[in-house]
Amino acid sequence: MARFDSEAIAEKITRWVSCESPSRDIAAVNQMQDIVEADLAAPGIAVERLPGGEGAADVVIARAGPANNQPPVLVLSHVDTVHPIGTIERDLPLRSEGERLYGPGALDMKGGAVMGLAALRAAVADDALRRPVIYMFTPDEEIGAIHTRGLIEAMARGVSHVLVTEPARPGGRVVTARRGSGRFDVYLRGIPAHSGSGQEIGRSAIREAAHQILRIEAAADAERGISVTVGLIKGGTASNTIPEHAWFNVDFRITHPADADRMEAFIRGLEPVDPDVAITVEGCITRPPYAKSPAIAELHGRVQEIGAELGLPLEELPLAGGGSDGNFTAAMGIPTIDGLGIEGAGAHTLEEHAIITSVGQRTELMYRLLTRL
Ligand SMILES: [Zn+2]
Repeated sequence: MARFDSEAIAEKITRWVSCESPSRDIAAVNQMQDIVEADLAAPGIAVERLPGGEGAADVVIARAGPANNQPPVLVLSHVDTVHPIGTIERDLPLRSEGERLYGPGALDMKGGAVMGLAALRAAVADDALRRPVIYMFTPDEEIGAIHTRGLIEAMARGVSHVLVTEPARPGGRVVTARRGSGRFDVYLRGIPAHSGSGQEIGRSAIREAAHQILRIEAAADAERGISVTVGLIKGGTASNTIPEHAWFNVDFRITHPADADRMEAFIRGLEPVDPDVAITVEGCITRPPYAKSPAIAELHGRVQEIGAELGLPLEELPLAGGGSDGNFTAAMGIPTIDGLGIEGAGAHTLEEHAIITSVGQRTELMYRLLTRL
C-alpha cells in the first residue's frame, strides 16, 4: 500500500491555501505559520519559531533526525504568496476541477511545502532519518527573502545539501540552476529652470536619465545570459519646467556568478553625460546566480536514481529564469536541488493551480530523498 494518500495531502493543501498569506501582510503570514507549527507538532520534531525581523513575519524551523555526526540536510519551503488577501473571494476561487486544485499559492508553493512536511513527519514516525534534518518555513521568499536571507545562509552553513520545494517544472522536471538578479534605483538630480527663459542654466534630470537608460540596457548580453530592464521611471514637476529630479529602476538577471560583481560595479559606477547632473545609485544583487556545479550534477544524479524507482525521470530544467531561496545556498557552494514541489501551472497568476493526482508519488519521492541521501 502506498505510504501517502494523494487525497489526504490535497485536503491539507486546500487548508493551507485557504489561509491567504501575501508576503507583506505580517499578521496573515503569521497565521499561516500557526498552521505550519500545528501541523509539525509530533514526537521527534523540535519546532522553533523566530521573529523574521522588522517588517517580516516569523520563520518556523523544524529539527529532527538522529544526533549523529552526519552533516544535516536543509529543506526550504516558503509559506508566503504573491496574491493579496481577497484573491480567493474575488479572482481565484479555491476549487478542484478534475485533477487540478486552483487557489493562490496552491502551486507556489503551499503544495510543495505540505508535501515536504508530510514526508518529514512520516520519516520521523518511521525512525528512518539517517542524518539530521533542518526544515525552514520562510515568510518572505516572494519579496526576495529580504528579511530572512541571513538566517537561511546561517542555517545552511555546514549542511551536506539543500532540497527546495518550489514547483516542479513541466514534465515533473527539477531545477539545478537559476539565474541571479539585481535590483537598483538610480536617482538623478539636475538644475531646475523655466522651460522658456532658463534654457542656459537648466540641467534636465530626465534627459540625463534617457542617456543612462540606453547605456544600461545596452549591457544586456543574450549569449552570456544577461538581461537588463528599466521597468519604472518617474521625473519632473511640470511640462514647462526643466526637471530637477528623475528616477528609474533597473532589474537585471545574470547567469554566471562572475557577472554579479561586474554588473553591480557597472551600475554603481555610472558617470553622468552632463557633469552638472548628479547620479546616486541604491540597490543590490538580490539573488546571486545558482550555477550548476559538479557537486550539484552529482546530487542530481542520485536524486534521479531514487526517482527512477518511482518511475519519475526527474530531468533537469537547463536554467530557470526566476530565483528562489536555493540561489543563496547554491551560491555558498552547497549542492542544491530545487523544483521538488508539486506539479501544476500558472504560478503568480489567476490561473494558478496544482495537479493533485501525482502528489502521493512526489511526497514519496521527498520521503526517500530525506531518508536516503
Ligand atoms: Zn515560490
